[in-house]
This record gives sequence, C-alpha cells and structure tokens, in this order.
Amino acid sequence: MNTEEIINLDKKFVMQTYGRYPLALKEGKGALVRDFEGKTYIDCFAGIAVNNVGHCHPKVVEAICNQAKKLIHTSNLYYTEPQVELAKLLAEISVHEKSFFCNSGAEANEGAVKLARKFTGKGEIIAMENSFHGRTLAMITATGQHKYKKGFEPLPEGFKHVNYGDIQSVADSITDNTAAVFVEPIQGEGGVIVPPEGYLAELKKLCAENDVLLIFDEVQTGFGRTGEMFASQLFDVTPDITTVAKALGGGFPIGAVLAGEEVGGAFEPGNHAATFGGNPLACAAAIASVNTIIDENMLIKVKENGGYLKYKLEEQAKLYGVIEEVRGYGMMLGMELGMNCAEIAAKAREQGILINCTADTVLRFLPPFVIDVGQIDTVTCVLESILQSIS
Ligand SMILES: *Cc1c(COP(=O)(O)O)cnc(C)c1O
Repeated sequence: MNTEEIINLDKKFVMQTYGRYPLALKEGKGALVRDFEGKTYIDCFAGIAVNNVGHCHPKVVEAICNQAKKLIHTSNLYYTEPQVELAKLLAEISVHEKSFFCNSGAEANEGAVKLARKFTGKGEIIAMENSFHGRTLAMITATGQHKYKKGFEPLPEGFKHVNYGDIQSVADSITDNTAAVFVEPIQGEGGVIVPPEGYLAELKKLCAENDVLLIFDEVQTGFGRTGEMFASQLFDVTPDITTVAKALGGGFPIGAVLAGEEVGGAFEPGNHAATFGGNPLACAAAIASVNTIIDENMLIKVKENGGYLKYKLEEQAKLYGVIEEVRGYGMMLGMELGMNCAEIAAKAREQGILINCTADTVLRFLPPFVIDVGQIDTVTCVLESILQSIS
C-alpha cells in the first residue's frame, strides 16, 4: 500500500476520531521513522512520550518475540512470571510497593480513583483546570478542559476543579468528603505547564494534614521523561498513588496503578480487574523497556541531550519574538508561541521532523531518549528556518 491508499481506507472504515496528519508510518529505528514512500523523519514526539527507549529497541523486540513464543495471554485467574517480575521491578524503581496492571493511561487513572474512594470511603476528587487524564467518561470529567466533555454529558459525579498552581484554592476546596487530589506533576497535553516552585510539596503537606490522598498522574512524565525515573523524584514529593502507562511498555500497551502497602491493600479480590491487565506479553515488553532505561543509563542522556535541546530552543527564543517561553524538564519541553503552532508543526513535518502542537500555541518536544546531538541540531536548524520564514 501507499500513503494515499491507507488514508482512503481509513476514511472509509475507521471512525474519524483523530485529526491525523497526512502521513502513514511504515517502520522505525531509534529516533527515526520512515513513511510508505521511503521518506525518513526525526521523531521528536515518540508516539506521545511512549517510545522512550526509541523505536523497535532490540531488547524490547527480543523480549516480545521470546515471550510470544512461550505464552501470550492467560487472564488474571492464574499467576504468571512476567507480571510478578514487573511488579517487583516497579517497586524497586518507584516509591510504591504494589501494582495493579491495566492497559492504558485512562484505565490506570480510573483504577486510581476507585482505589482512593475504596481506601478513604469518601467520594470527592479534586482535579486541576487545564489537566488531561484520558477519554473514558470519568476521565473526561476529571480532565479540566471543556472541549473533551462537550457532547458527552451526563458525566459522573464527584469531581471538582481548581487552578493548577494555586495552593489556596485546593485548601478551600477540601471537605469532609474529599478522597484525593489528582494532579499531573507537569501538565503535558495542557501545554507542558511546570508547577510553581514548591507547589507539589505544599500540595503533599496539605493532603497529609487533611487525610486526603495525593494522586500523581505520571502517565506522560513517567519512566525518565523529565530526567528522573518519575517526576515525583524530580520534585522530591511522594504521592500516595501514581498512575503510569505510555512509556511503560516501550510501545506495547500497558498501564499501572502504583500505591504503597497500606493504600494498595484497600483493593480486595473482586474489587477491580482487567482481562488483559498485566498479561505476559505486555509485562515482558515492560520489563525489557524499563531495564533498558536503567541498563543503558538513559536518564543521563535525557538530562544531557534534553538540556542541550532546551539550550538550543532558548537561543532561538532570544532571536525570534514569536517565542514567548521555553519550559520543561529533561526531554519534556514546550515552546510557547504567541500564535497557533499547527502550521509550524506541519512545515516541520514536510522537512522531515515530527513535532506536536498542543494547547493551540505550544510546540511540544518529547523525543525518544536515544536522539543524538546531530539529530537535535537538525531539528533546531529546521525549526529555525521555519521561524525565520514566518517572522
Ligand atoms: C496520555 C495521557 C493519559 C491518557 O492515556 P491513554 O493511554 O491515552 O488512556 C492520561 N494522563 C496523562 C497525563 C496523559 O498524558
């Protein structure tokens, strides 16, 4: 097939929920992907912060192939080795002892809300304006953006919203029925919005004082994206529950709810389940992916090369007035433009660079950790030529 044939079939047979770019990808390796016409692109988006270890990392490929030959799926009626191995690994690298496995970010967040309600016996969840937590009914409710809810009412009860970064409004919103405060440590889809200095630590203190759980949605920030394994480590704040998905499986779909012994222990047999959750194939991919981040010292690359990318973007901000701010940590960077950036992303794509425009005006950079300095130079060079042409 060629790109045009693929696009035509999609239009005919796939529900049109995505405003897709006119691009069909055929293969990928490291930080590069190739389309059906043979054109190569530098991927600065990594499948939305999923392909952290790079496309088709040999260790992930090998783990998937080996596991696929042994056992692909069993259901959770039986124990499997990859699932307990992955749970042990997550306990080693995070502040939490226990895992519940599911298949996506939204599903992990649903599980976290259920766990918080079960543990506290309370119903109310305080979430943030401008947040993003996924597309299930409860998660579009938790998400603090009207555009995701419109047309899908009625929505589940029990969620209220406060401004991200405003500690006083959280304090004012906590009641006797508050189960948890639910927050992305860094808002991703909302435009790479970093927390004000000390905000997350204050949030933790406020929650602890009021017997309210703190849930970090690390679906996007997890597994090294910010230069630390989890953003909670970057800000030195320990949440009660963490949700992860995106990069966990190195591209294979898997999510998890992580919590400590006590909170995690609130779930009893029959309380929660997922048929595919933590199946052997997904867990084998996740073990390989997480171990690759560790074994190949990728966090150092994220800090060094992410720092280099940020420096290059900041240099451009000095030259081009349309750039209002460059922000973020590690390889989770946003460039705030004083204009809609969809066209810039489209021009970059034509010139072989995949970047994303989010929250209308923010160019979001989420490259695979294996992107090298030469590739970063190419990316910033192309971006500069585009900025020059529109200034
Ligand atoms: C992507 C994302 C989700 C939703 O994950 P899905 O796997 O698409 O359900 C939830 N929270 C955050 C912070 C995300 O970035």
